[in-house]
Amino acid sequence: MGSQEVSTVDWQGKHVTVAGLGVSGIPAARALHERGAVVTVVNDGDDERARAQAAELEALGITVRLGDGATLPPSTELVVTAPGWQPDKPLFLAAAEAGVDIWGDVELAWRLRGTNGREAAPWLAVTGTNGKTTTVRMLASILEAAGLRTAAVGNIGVSLLDAVLGEQEYDVLAVELSSYQLHWAPSLRAHSAAVLNLAPDHLDWHGSMEAYAADKGRVYEGNTVACVYNAADPATEELVREADVEEGCRAIGFTLGTPGPSQLGVVDGILVDRAFVTNRQKQAQELAEVSDVNPPAPHNIANALAAAALARAFGVEPAAVRDGLRAFRPDAHRIEHVADIGEVAYVDDSKATNTHATEASLAAYDSIVWIAGGLAKGATFDELVTGAAKRLRGVVLMGADRALIREALTRHAPEVPVVDLDRTDTGAMSEVVEHAARLARPGDTVLLAPACASMDMFTNYNKRGEAFADAVRAHAEKSA
Ligand code: ADP
Repeated sequence: MGSQEVSTVDWQGKHVTVAGLGVSGIPAARALHERGAVVTVVNDGDDERARAQAAELEALGITVRLGDGATLPPSTELVVTAPGWQPDKPLFLAAAEAGVDIWGDVELAWRLRGTNGREAAPWLAVTGTNGKTTTVRMLASILEAAGLRTAAVGNIGVSLLDAVLGEQEYDVLAVELSSYQLHWAPSLRAHSAAVLNLAPDHLDWHGSMEAYAADKGRVYEGNTVACVYNAADPATEELVREADVEEGCRAIGFTLGTPGPSQLGVVDGILVDRAFVTNRQKQAQELAEVSDVNPPAPHNIANALAAAALARAFGVEPAAVRDGLRAFRPDAHRIEHVADIGEVAYVDDSKATNTHATEASLAAYDSIVWIAGGLAKGATFDELVTGAAKRLRGVVLMGADRALIREALTRHAPEVPVVDLDRTDTGAMSEVVEHAARLARPGDTVLLAPACASMDMFTNYNKRGEAFADAVRAHAEKSA
C-alpha cells in the first residue's frame, strides 16, 4: 500500500478487544465503537480511577472487564493494545495462537486516518534511543515556518488518534514513535523517517538488542521519499539497507562533519544540505548557522540536521529551515540553562535518564561538576565515565544505585573528587547543589544529567529537574 492511500476496514459488528484503559485505550475504544465495532476493553487494574473510566465507556455501550487483562474474550477478531504492554503477555500469546491480529495505537491511527471526511496527511516519522522529542519539535517548528499546517504528535504526549480524527486539518504531521509503538504498527508507511541513534534501552521489553533494533527499523518500511540515518551510527544505516521501501526512496545521512553527496552536515559553522540540491556532486545548499540551533550542543546539532533532512524531503525551502530552528524552544529539563552564579553555569538535563543521553550531555561542556544517580535500570557506567573523565571537575552522587557510578569513577577517574550523598529523599537536592557549588570553579558547568531514572527519589524526571532548579535558585539567593 502506498503511503497516501487510505485503507478501509468494515468495522460494523467486528469484535475488537482493546487492551488497557488509559491515554490511548479510551480514545481507541470510543473511535471503534462509533464506527460500529463491538468493543470490549480489558484492563489489569481495578482501582477507583479505572472504575470511573469504565462507567463512562459502559454508558456508551462498551463492555469493560476490570482486573483481568490476561484472558482473551472468545469472540475477538482484533486486539488493539496500549503500546507499553509487554509482548509476552498471555493475552497476546492467546491472540497469536488464535490467529488474531494485534495493533497498537499507532497502527489504529494509521488505519483510521482519512476516514472522517478529511484528507489523510502524510507522516514524517522520528524514532531513536535519544533526541526524538527534540527533533520532532524542531521539525514541527520548521514545517510551521514553511507555512504548513502541522503538529508534533505521537509519543510526545499528543495522541495520534486525536490528531488523525480531530477537527483540525493538517498538511503534514511530525510524528514521534517509540520502539513499543513501532513494534505494534505493522502497516505504517511514513512519507519519510529518521532513526536518530541506537543504543541499548528497554531491552527487558524487547527481549534483545536485535529485537529492539528491528522494531526501530520498522519506521523505514515503505518510506516513499527519504530514509534519514545517522552517519556516525552505522546501525541506523544498516536498518535503512534492510528496509523494504518504495521505488525511488533515497537514503539520506546526517553528519556533524563535512557532508558527502546525499548527506546533510556542517561546514565552517554552517548547516549544509548536499542531498536535496540539483547537483549533489558539486553543490551544497546553506541551511542555517550552528548558532541558530538552540542549544548548539553537538547532539542537538545532529537533531537539527535530522529535522532539516525530513523537512527538505518534504520540499521545505532552506529559509524555513533556518527560521524554524531559530523559533524552536527546547522543552524543559533538556539541557536547560537554569542560572549563572559567580561565573558557574547551572544546567538541568534531568531528561538524561540513560547513559547514552548523559554521554551526549557531558560531551557538550569542557569542565563539569556532574550530578548523577538514581535508578540504573541495569546500566553499566564504565564507558560513560571513561569518556568524560578528563572534563570532570567533580561529581555529586545521589539515589539508590549511586554505588554503581561511584565504582566506575574509582576505576576510571580516581583523581576526580566525588561527594557520595547517602540520600534518596526528595529533599536531598539542596544538599546536592550546595556540594556541587563548592566543587565548581569559575567557567565550570554544574550539570544535572543523572544517567538514571528518577523514581527512587521523585515522581518523574520533571519533578527531579524542578527540585534542581529550586535548589539552584535558593543557592543563588544565599550567594547574593
Ligand atoms: P527522547 O524523546 O528520545 O527521550 P529528548 O529529545 O526528550 O529525547 O531528549 C532526551 C535526552 O537525550 C536529552 O535530555 C539529552 O540529554 C539527550 N539527547 C537528546 N538528543 C540526543 C542525541 N541526538 N543523542 C544523544 N542524546 C541525546
